[in-house]
Amino acid sequence: MYSADLVRQWLGKGGAKMEKFTLADAANLYGIDSWGASYFQINDEGRLEVCPRKDQDLRIDLLKVVEELKKSRMQAPILLRFPQVLETQVNTLCNAFEKAREEFHYEQKYFPVFPIKVNQQSTVVQNLLKAGYKHNLGLEVGSKAELMGALAFDLPEEALTICNGFKDEAYFEMASLGAKMGKRIITVIEKPFELKQLVDLKEKGRDLPWVGFRVKLRAKGSGLWEKSGGSTSKFGLSTSQLLDGVETLRKNGMLDRLKMFHFHIGSQITEIRRMKEAIKEAARIYAKVRKLGIAVEFVNVGGGLGIDYDGSKTSSDASVNYTIQEYANDVVYNIADVCENEHVPEPKVVTESGRAMVAYHSALIVDVRGHIECTADRKPTFLENEPRVIEDLLYIHRNLTVKNYREYYHDAVEARDQLYSLFSLGMLDLEERAKGEWLYWEIAQKAVKYSKSAKFVADEFVDLEHRLFEKFICNFSVFQSIPDHWALDQLFPVVPIHRLEEKPNRRATLVDITCDSDGEMDKFVDLKDIKYALEVHDPKEGEPYYLAFLLIGAYQDTMGDLHNLFGGVNEAQVLGEEGGKFLIQDARKGETIRHALELFGFEAAKLVRNIETQVQGRISKGLLKDDQAAQIVEAYKEAFNSYPYLS
Ligand code: PLP
Repeated sequence: MYSADLVRQWLGKGGAKMEKFTLADAANLYGIDSWGASYFQINDEGRLEVCPRKDQDLRIDLLKVVEELKKSRMQAPILLRFPQVLETQVNTLCNAFEKAREEFHYEQKYFPVFPIKVNQQSTVVQNLLKAGYKHNLGLEVGSKAELMGALAFDLPEEALTICNGFKDEAYFEMASLGAKMGKRIITVIEKPFELKQLVDLKEKGRDLPWVGFRVKLRAKGSGLWEKSGGSTSKFGLSTSQLLDGVETLRKNGMLDRLKMFHFHIGSQITEIRRMKEAIKEAARIYAKVRKLGIAVEFVNVGGGLGIDYDGSKTSSDASVNYTIQEYANDVVYNIADVCENEHVPEPKVVTESGRAMVAYHSALIVDVRGHIECTADRKPTFLENEPRVIEDLLYIHRNLTVKNYREYYHDAVEARDQLYSLFSLGMLDLEERAKGEWLYWEIAQKAVKYSKSAKFVADEFVDLEHRLFEKFICNFSVFQSIPDHWALDQLFPVVPIHRLEEKPNRRATLVDITCDSDGEMDKFVDLKDIKYALEVHDPKEGEPYYLAFLLIGAYQDTMGDLHNLFGGVNEAQVLGEEGGKFLIQDARKGETIRHALELFGFEAAKLVRNIETQVQGRISKGLLKDDQAAQIVEAYKEAFNSYPYLS
């Protein structure tokens, strides 16, 4: 087993090259100690382990889990969920707030709330609620459907159910139902017109939920979701709308229902400074309203607590420049400070942290199915008298040096354009085209190699190097399993789950099996920067090679789509037990081809009938025999129940 100390020791030697590639080198190469938050380590067999309690008591060897699942015909791609990680994260967050309350002598309670939209899988929500029961963990919803799901959970008496999102009459009716059940429901007014629905609810004599106002702060978040905050954001009440809202409640005798102020300046806030500004502004609004004699009880600071996906601990989009404890301290301290300053009672504090609770809890394991190189693998034989364009490329290839690589590479680009023009005019044959292409890629490779000797590598050679990386074909869909990488370029750590004792001797980008060129990952986490290729091992004939996409527990399950009808993947929950043992629970097969087709209106029975009609037509024309036709129909029917991914 290697330790973080070992890595540091090694780094302390100025990264001096060690002869032998060690497990510490592997951990360092993939940055496991930087972004892993102590949930991951490499064992003595060179395999990636999950430590769901961040200690050595429970260790889950991912390769062993994959092999175990394979025995029950659960193949990759497979999503593994670790409920104990959810428990650890909930406790970490709640304990951080407890510590902050103690440190700043904050009397009022803390109420964590999990926003269901971040991961709506019922097992995930159940596991979170179980772990969070002692902390009064509640739920946040953003739609009627989510509210219906949330109402069915038996929350602790004091836990909150917070209703965000645009609301219509039916949404308010559902919230009222929850209030009637004795739940602590807070409907958050996001837009002034929603107040009318609330007044209607009262006039209809329904049980009234509590009311929250979402305020539009001037403060903005930072990072990819910055647009959610600021004065032009989609949600929230401006100052005058807030005052009008208070007036409407007063006029309708409902002011006692106003219990909470809420803000949310965006997910994955990368800079703590932005959060502090927002907290101070919101606390000030709370204080001013309290001074109007309105007994608002809660200040809800929304979500935004970020995850350090690249381990750099900076304010880059894939990171955060603060810890959970620092976040909790800043929330509590700044609210307390404003309240003291304004001489108003402290509010109860609510957070809607979603990403921080669930991001670490799942990993997608994919198998590599082949690789694509842009350079041709067969060296052609060159003849005495090749066409002029090939001769030119041959000359460049032979004479390219570290001194002339830039000029000669430009000549090669020109020659390659000429090659294609001549081929289009019918003046070159396929063999000649293949020779020209082979030469071009060889020249490009040499030029990239020589470009590295320069003090500053020109952009065109950096781009060229990226184009030269080979591509590993991975059995999964980016659109289904890591949609935020496609949509927002969000980075997720990727690590081979085995062979980590071997030095990876290749660098590759990863492509999925959809027919879409966007279905690829060509940016990878790196401590100092972004890597444009991942270090991978030589695939071995007849042996699977598995990679894990990690920290994908937040938002990815929900946002994934069925591009090319690649549906939800196989999944299982894995619980660590002492002595490196584990228990697999709730193993669920992914969506079948039937399910994926039916989601888009293709009825399996109808499709089968269409196939039968077509083969009958072929039989009547004497083009198929009865037994052949039966075979076709049978094979077609059978495939409906299979997994859409490569088997
Ligand atoms: N609350 C609201 C209103 C949100 O819109 C979101 C997501 O953007 C969250 C909470 C969860 O944010 P996060 O996952 O960053 O904690």
